[in-house]
Amino acid sequence: MKILCISDQIDPVVYTGAIKARFHDIDLILSAGDLPMDYLDFIVSSLNKPLLFVLGNHDGNPFRKKSPFQGAGGAYTGGAVHIGSRTRVEEGLIFAGLGGSRWYNNGGNQYTQFEMRLAILKILPSLLLNRLLRGRFLDVLLTHAPPLGVHDRPDRCHQGFKPFLWFMRLFKPKYLVHGHTHLYDLSEPRVSPYHATSVINAYGHYVIDTRA
Ligand SMILES: [Zn+2]
Repeated sequence: MKILCISDQIDPVVYTGAIKARFHDIDLILSAGDLPMDYLDFIVSSLNKPLLFVLGNHDGNPFRKKSPFQGAGGAYTGGAVHIGSRTRVEEGLIFAGLGGSRWYNNGGNQYTQFEMRLAILKILPSLLLNRLLRGRFLDVLLTHAPPLGVHDRPDRCHQGFKPFLWFMRLFKPKYLVHGHTHLYDLSEPRVSPYHATSVINAYGHYVIDTRA
């Protein structure tokens, strides 16, 4: 299975008329945040595959927007599915989402370490249920911010979340896909192992082949 991961930057390699030919073998798309809904809408309508997303610190609250694309819950998502503080099974894989960044200036989608621990507690029952029903807590954790000490930066805005570290040790997702850390230098690591998990920075775009 191939997963197209995107975040933080409208990537000209994706945002093009050639998207269908270039990404014809993609089964699912994950957006790690800080991207406009119109971009997600373009990808969903071009590839016609499920797109799951979380919100970044620059996304505000897109669910307030009135639009003909509003779903049953009044959410403007253009066909993309918000999995922030939720789990969802798609294409046989279990996904969980934890959006937002560390708190730094009182803006939207910013959380303290304590608030992120509460967000994890909120999805705990469905993780346990998946463990019972499917034999594993989850396969992929989709976040906006990175874990503390992995792909993060020292400033308050770009520091990672400590609770993501014990989340990975405890629930053992195969992948943690995040955004928020811009990759300006191609020598910076995009994929880093942490215990049983591959931590992947989706900045721009990155394709995961789950068979690899
Ligand atoms: Zn961000």
